Amino acid sequence: MLQIDSIAVDYDRIPALTNVSIHVNPGEFVGVIGANRAGKTTLLRAISGLVPVHAGHIMFAGERIDGLASHRRPELGIAHVPEGRQVFPRLTVEENLILGAITPASKPARNQRIETVYALFPKLAERRKQAAGTLSGGEQQMLAIGRALMLDPRLLLLDEPSMGLAPIIVDEVYSKICEIQKLGLSILLVEQNVPMALGVISRAYVLEHGEVSISGSAEALKTDPGVRTAFLGL
Ligand code: ATP
Repeated sequence: MLQIDSIAVDYDRIPALTNVSIHVNPGEFVGVIGANRAGKTTLLRAISGLVPVHAGHIMFAGERIDGLASHRRPELGIAHVPEGRQVFPRLTVEENLILGAITPASKPARNQRIETVYALFPKLAERRKQAAGTLSGGEQQMLAIGRALMLDPRLLLLDEPSMGLAPIIVDEVYSKICEIQKLGLSILLVEQNVPMALGVISRAYVLEHGEVSISGSAEALKTDPGVRTAFLGL
């Protein structure tokens, strides 16, 4: 589904990613874990075309996409839930969802998709006329995910969905993400909350200073001495 080979991204010539290679198989739930500033957000932004890659290449569903404009990538089925949710605070829940149907293909099916999103997130249905800025953090996270699902994507990019949420709400958000993954989507999840991520994903890459330092199954990483010391506090 997604194949990234040896990409590099710089900000003002300062490297943020170097020689990063990762892949996600169809229907797979893959994580990228790492500390602050490791380059996790930059990786998702490179896949979405929000930052240019200056080396390597990115393939999606057999097509090379790293030269494509960012607005073309949702058309191929890539949906990005950004860090910090970035809902439109003054618009209602429903208006935010409508704006998620951004591509020509998703617009005709928009009303049907809204109902699919409401079935998945009944709390959003209850609050459909409420301004998004008045929702709780967990509800805003669900709205951001729901907005991405309006594209009926094949690959969902999730940037730190646990950020700023109480542990009980993180559990709720993650149980929804697992439900979504069971629908057959491929998911690439970026997280600092490593215990949470390793509890749900099947494979992960550890990003350190813009490079992949370790990768493997979630089970293998849970027992890796470096991961246990650096990220699991063991
Ligand atoms: P966090 O969890 O704190 O969001 P991260 O792992 O997602 O961290 P990035 O946000 O991708 O890391 O940042 C990687 C590096 O790139 C950091 O050194 C950061 O300071 C730098 N960086 C990120 N965005 C920019 C930008 N717009 N301009 C300049 N440097 C940036």
